[in-house]
Amino acid sequence: MAFAEFAPDGTLACANARFQALLGLAPAQVGTLRHAQLCPEGLAGSPSCEAMWQSLCAGHEFSGVVERVRSDGSSCWLEVVYAPLRDSEGAVTRILMVATDVAAGKPTGPARQDQLWRLSLVADTTDAAIVITDAKSRVIYSNAGFHRMFGWTLREMQGQKMLELLVRQSPVDLFERIRGDLRQGRPAELEEVVTGKGGRRYWSKIICNPVMDADGQWAYTVSVLLDITKTKIHEVLHDRALQALARDLPLMQVLDVVCEEVERLAPEVCASILQVDEQGLIHPLASPSLPFSYSSQLDGVEIGPNVGSCGTAAWRKSPVLVTDIATDPLWADFKHLILPLGFNVCWSTPILQKDGKVLGTFAFYYRENGPFVASRFHEQLVEACTDLCALAMEREQARQRIRELAFYDALTGLPNRSLLETQVAQLLETAQANGQRVAVVYVDLDRFKHINDSLGHATGDALLREVAARIRELVRQGGVAGRLPGDEFVVAAPLRADDEINGLIERWQTHLMQPLRLAGTQVDLSVGMGVAMYPQDATAMASLLHRAEMALHQAKAGGPGRVGFFSPELSRAAEERIALEKALREALQTGGLQLHYQPQVELATGRLRGLEALARWQHPELGAIPPSRFIPLAEECGLMGPLARWLLDEACRQLAQWRRDGLAIPAVSVNLSASNFHSLELPALVAQALERHGLQAPDLVVELTEGILLDSHGSTLQTVERLHAQGVRLSMDDFGTGYSSLSYLRRLPISELKLDRSFVADLEHAPTARALSAAILGIGTSLGLTVVAEGVETAAQNGILQAQGYPVAQGYWFARPMAPPELERWMATQAAAVPAP
Ligand code: C2E
Ligand code: CA
Ligand code: CA
Repeated sequence: MAFAEFAPDGTLACANARFQALLGLAPAQVGTLRHAQLCPEGLAGSPSCEAMWQSLCAGHEFSGVVERVRSDGSSCWLEVVYAPLRDSEGAVTRILMVATDVAAGKPTGPARQDQLWRLSLVADTTDAAIVITDAKSRVIYSNAGFHRMFGWTLREMQGQKMLELLVRQSPVDLFERIRGDLRQGRPAELEEVVTGKGGRRYWSKIICNPVMDADGQWAYTVSVLLDITKTKIHEVLHDRALQALARDLPLMQVLDVVCEEVERLAPEVCASILQVDEQGLIHPLASPSLPFSYSSQLDGVEIGPNVGSCGTAAWRKSPVLVTDIATDPLWADFKHLILPLGFNVCWSTPILQKDGKVLGTFAFYYRENGPFVASRFHEQLVEACTDLCALAMEREQARQRIRELAFYDALTGLPNRSLLETQVAQLLETAQANGQRVAVVYVDLDRFKHINDSLGHATGDALLREVAARIRELVRQGGVAGRLPGDEFVVAAPLRADDEINGLIERWQTHLMQPLRLAGTQVDLSVGMGVAMYPQDATAMASLLHRAEMALHQAKAGGPGRVGFFSPELSRAAEERIALEKALREALQTGGLQLHYQPQVELATGRLRGLEALARWQHPELGAIPPSRFIPLAEECGLMGPLARWLLDEACRQLAQWRRDGLAIPAVSVNLSASNFHSLELPALVAQALERHGLQAPDLVVELTEGILLDSHGSTLQTVERLHAQGVRLSMDDFGTGYSSLSYLRRLPISELKLDRSFVADLEHAPTARALSAAILGIGTSLGLTVVAEGVETAAQNGILQAQGYPVAQGYWFARPMAPPELERWMATQAAAVPAP
């Protein structure tokens, strides 16, 4: 071994023969030569050379591979150790230098020297860590970059096995494999999490290049270590987390993956992810290594300026590092929860949306304040994780939004039909398991259309929202509620054992019907309700809903503010109604309806004044179905239009036929309902029917009821006017029963009044009825109208009407409504009885 001793001033004090031989020194040079003279040109006297010497004199050892210059000016590479020697006082008195020749790579020639010199400069100024190891894999050189990155000086590294020191978690055979490659002269490359002095951690790319000696033997390895932490963290975390996202795992599972992955990279932390909701409340999302008993206690805690690390970080929108939970005031209210678990440091970072809104927090819990806490490696982990969490949470929000759009009513926020059905089904399952009863209730706002039309749609919407809010209150204690299209809602709630259904529904209705102010007006809210009970009315979700709906329709038919309970009769009635509706459609299409005709007779002469056409339906199985049944049915199922079309055509056809047959029938009256006047096509329809059968407008009378005056439909009065203008006579039917008002009468272009048959029925016994019939005749006559008495059944009635001066009457006393052949026979008997004028 070559060694030498230098005085602190750099003078070579002594050197053994080996040293003298190595550096080509003459014995005389010992005692005079300065250390700097051994250093290559450019290095000697340079600041770094000076600094090195001073550091030696200060007692710091140095070791490494260095270039030195022989006396003949040639360069040599030595593996050296400079060791300061101290006296008993501790002062450095001598510097010992031990050197070995670095055989391989021994530079030759000046060009080579330059190159090496430049290389050594590169080695120390580069940020990459560079390590040279010998054939036994022991470190003989590490550069300044290595020191900066891993904290170890060359002296500390000297003789260590680099890979074993840095890569702690990898299996030993990995190193063997790498060395096998190097021995063969093949470079090796690996990416590993490496740990430096004091535990600082990097993700490093390690490139090992073997250097072979002249005999082709592996002599050295030059390794370059690059910090790829940032890229790698992103790569690994993103890989796993994005995979989880792509597999559409629920948010919590995705975040669990993030935590687990982070803890694999940094076993010294426990990761925790919290969500912060719209109200600023915390909800744990993932913290796979913290006990559930801990995270569950954070649920619902409000963020604030003193709410642990996370609540405070979310509040401040900036990271919060608490290094001593036991004493930090931020943790005063929460430390009792976490200290028993052994954690004393918590570093929390807010997860922010692009627009700066806080979505949640990402935190590391540590057991003690050590070198890891908030280290660069952890910072990089946190950066990567908060990005990922934001991504996952924003995606969750988007999903939530889609769910809301798909399952919630946008106006009220209540579940829509499809979600409601699922929820009711779930409710029934639970009820079955618990042996509970469930009330399923349809709620419908009375006169909503009117409110909407008169106060405007915005007010209508506000009303629906208010009702939705009230409905939500009904099910706060349990149950579900939803909105159906329009103004219908459904509420379903389990009953407690002592709940009495009538009382409960009454309470609900009272709650819903509290008056409210809308657009500055007090609105008296009225709702109709239909109730079906589980299990007695039905057990399946669909039939319960259907039956509650049937009960509602029945209730609505009874007027506003009614409650209907489902009953089996209701079900039967509904089924019948559906069957009947179907039959009526068929009858209209296949000519299953007929018209019967009832004569109107001039009282003075007994002559026929006209016929009233009345619809008849003879059902093949159900028999005769009265108009009082099928007319409202046609009205409900939108068949009034087709009915009127058929009626007009049939009445005209029959009249024309009779005239061709020589029967003297002055006119035919048909009954139209208010809804027929909604259609502006009615006048044309009438004209076409007349024309088709070669009739004139005066041959037809259209009977309408007072209801038409209450009808708010825009085209009604217009249609009436047009019919009148066409020359068709109009007759006011059932006069005296409804909203009779003389001013209305004046507004309508009618030519006939029909005294309702209820007055006629009372004529014999009620003086007021007599007075009224006389008055109505007076009014009608004064307005220039023909007044017809309806429903005359007896001779006495006939006598009174005649005495009062009624011009025309109609009723069983004269003739019942008759089918055409029967009417023809009746005409024949009349012709015989009444002398032709
Ligand atoms: P309405 O227009 O008041 O028709 C007169 C009703 O009184 C008819 O009952 C008729 O049979 C009945 N009637 C006639 N004379 C007497 C009598 O002396 N005593 C009694 N008690 N009743 C008598 P119907 O045919 O059952 O019709 C009932 C209602 O059905 C009609 O009342 C009318 O409003 C409606 N209706 C009938 N056919 C049609 C139609 O083709 N179109 C429309 N829109 N409604 C019709
Ligand atoms: Ca009539
Ligand atoms: Ca009538």
